[in-house]
Amino acid sequence: MTEGAELIGQAMARFAAARLWAAHRAPYLATAVFALNPVVLEPYLDDRTGRPVPDAEFRAFPADTRWNVHVDTGTALATPVEEIGWWLLHQVGHLVRAHAERSPAAEPHRWNQAADAEINDDLEAEGLPGPAGVISPAALGLPPNRMAEEYVPMLDVLDEAVGRGGRALSEALDCGSAADGVGRAYEGSGGGLGDLDRELLERSIAAGIQDRIGARSEVPAGWRRWAEERLRPKVDWRARLGAVIRRGLSSAAGRVDFSYRRPSRRAGAHPEIVAPAMVRPVPGVAVVIDTSGSVTEPRLDQLLTELTGILDGVAGPNRRLRVICCDVAAHPVQEVRRAADVRLAGGGGTDMRAGLAAATALRPRPDVVIVLTDGQTPWPERRVAADVVVCLIGEDGHAPEWAAAVRVPKEDRS
Ligand SMILES: [Zn+2]
Repeated sequence: MTEGAELIGQAMARFAAARLWAAHRAPYLATAVFALNPVVLEPYLDDRTGRPVPDAEFRAFPADTRWNVHVDTGTALATPVEEIGWWLLHQVGHLVRAHAERSPAAEPHRWNQAADAEINDDLEAEGLPGPAGVISPAALGLPPNRMAEEYVPMLDVLDEAVGRGGRALSEALDCGSAADGVGRAYEGSGGGLGDLDRELLERSIAAGIQDRIGARSEVPAGWRRWAEERLRPKVDWRARLGAVIRRGLSSAAGRVDFSYRRPSRRAGAHPEIVAPAMVRPVPGVAVVIDTSGSVTEPRLDQLLTELTGILDGVAGPNRRLRVICCDVAAHPVQEVRRAADVRLAGGGGTDMRAGLAAATALRPRPDVVIVLTDGQTPWPERRVAADVVVCLIGEDGHAPEWAAAVRVPKEDRS
């Protein structure tokens, strides 16, 4: 055996030991830890001594979204088994919390730190503090149990303080594209899991956690919540659809007028939030419904009811909504107050380009167009003159890149 091969073998053995340690310390994540696929990288050898040198870029055993973990031979040989095991649990955190998909793309390093904060406080709560130099909300004086999206602005503030002589936040650790969604040059040599495999794996991890809860085994609160949410995707899509629509409407509202003079009705439910009150009518919304027949009418009715519920919550009840049914052509616009008043008309082929053209031709022009479709349709090649939110029904179709999309199940089993 060559020396390089022998070193790689030693690195693999340490990875295997670390995986056992991690599965033992966090049995509820054993399935996840064993699904990680090690990709061992050729060692850098010191010219003088011939010994492998740790590469600081790989200190966090960076992962990609296919569940590959990149093991630098020098790093693995220089790191205690327990510490490698801690990093494996940490990387599982990035993967199952979909940090790559949630990453806002701007400032990936700051996002990586915020995502680390989201993961590490749960690990600390389990008596698994991270190695020196990693982000810790407790050590930084930040509140626990927040989402990465909430930690980003807090870390920005701390970072400014560092500029004025405060303590550095943490070492510059890179957790890989599993954390920020940005591909790395060293990736691609490993196989790893595809989208469907990931989906099945996450469901089986969540089901395993629920089994343990049923058997009264210890599972930390953060992971209980994760498993519950993972097994209830309909909650996810409703929340996501609401969030996407709110974002579209508030950015449109920002273009007209916004006032903080008077608290909005939403402030009642969450007194800690002072939401801006809108002084002008809410930005216009139009809905385009794919009535080509591939989505059943009862399902369209259900989704339309969901949608008007979300819009009532955002804009106040009893607003008029403009609705356009569309198959190969757009049908005349209907102005309704309730979802039940929409008359679904159509059949035959599908061309949502016609529906979007009709919606953006309305006067006053809507700021946000919401499309209910299975996505099996041609789309305009370019962005249209409104923000578009595609409510994508079922698994088969697609939305254009320039639109926000939320996938919703074809059938509602609730
Ligand atoms: Zn990380």
